[in-house]
Amino acid sequence: MKENLLGLDLGGLEHFFAAQGEKPFRARQVQRWIHQLGEADFARMSDLAKALRDKLAQIACVSAPQIVGDETTADGTRKWLVKVDGANAVESVFIPETGRATLCVSSQAGCVLDCSFCATGKQGFNRNLTSAEIVGQLWLANQILKVQRRTDRVISNVVFMGMGEPMLNLDHVIPALRLMLDDNAYGLSRRRVTVSTSGVVPGMDRLRDECPVALAVSLHAANDALRDQLVPLNRKYPLRELIAACNRYLERAPRDFITFEYVMLEGVNDGEAHAREAAALAGAVRCKYNLIPFNPFTGVDYKRSSPERIRRFAEILQRAGLTVTTRKTRGEPIAAACGQLAGDVEDRTRRSRRVKLKEVRA
Ligand code: SAH
Ligand code: SF4
Repeated sequence: MKENLLGLDLGGLEHFFAAQGEKPFRARQVQRWIHQLGEADFARMSDLAKALRDKLAQIACVSAPQIVGDETTADGTRKWLVKVDGANAVESVFIPETGRATLCVSSQAGCVLDCSFCATGKQGFNRNLTSAEIVGQLWLANQILKVQRRTDRVISNVVFMGMGEPMLNLDHVIPALRLMLDDNAYGLSRRRVTVSTSGVVPGMDRLRDECPVALAVSLHAANDALRDQLVPLNRKYPLRELIAACNRYLERAPRDFITFEYVMLEGVNDGEAHAREAAALAGAVRCKYNLIPFNPFTGVDYKRSSPERIRRFAEILQRAGLTVTTRKTRGEPIAAACGQLAGDVEDRTRRSRRVKLKEVRA
């Protein structure tokens, strides 16, 4: 089978060329063609010798997944459905804002962690994406947007907040991250690439050691009893361990705070006492809060907190001296908002669609 060069970071490409008896600098040349110029055809890589181009065409390819759906909302949010194989498609969401443009990428088809309020989790897990499929989402978005806007470097920020838990697929996420950061590829700064995790502690330590970028942690509750219900992974890595891992991460992080994501579920985790607990956590770790109004999807009983409750919650955090942002709900008519991403995943686990709300409220 031909080797797909799209997902190889610099080290991987150098290794590939060395195995072919070629000079290591070929890696940088080819990397620029693929990622900066978006070229997938070796025949057009004009600064490579003809013999090398022919050889590459025989043994390698630059193969991105295929876009099979493309929808845009009135606010400019655009969702692509990206087919990664016969049974699976994942989603990437492009969010243009003044002064920046963010691409939200997926790292897995489905997710094994089954958070009670998440559409991806309700589908079950199917498989890890490869690094080519992860960085391929950025490659594809750049291709499409460059053509339309005629500018370079259209995407300024990447967030791993699409489908899947990136910390459970670091073997593929890390090479993809390295490409996003590499000046010969996408050249994004570490501060502008954010990995979001529900709290996989060993993964946080590994990312810190191998490729520290900005980190967002999906907190959603600041006490173990409630977090156990919302994010089942909390039973394995409870808050005390999670906070310790956040502090270890901060030793090498490009930003001096962790962003805590907090989904606002009416009557579940959005009360004043919850806000005070959340504020108290700031004594244990430098953090900012990002409140995410819950995005509903079929088969789930939760309700989005009212704007008044969200305002009150934010106010309590702010009074405690914390920086709080409330995420704008975008892309709703096309189900491209956080946690609505369900792609088209073959559900092998056939999880029950009913959420145990009674348990959560108890
Ligand atoms: N698995 C990672 C990243 C993907 S989810 C994680 O959990 O952090 C990205 C964010 O969307 C997380 O903060 C997640 O908790 C949140 N989210 C999931 N379902 C949601 C929903 N229905 N409404 C609002 N946010 C949701
Ligand atoms: Fe997985 Fe994140 Fe959804 Fe939880 S919120 S099920 S970790 S994708």
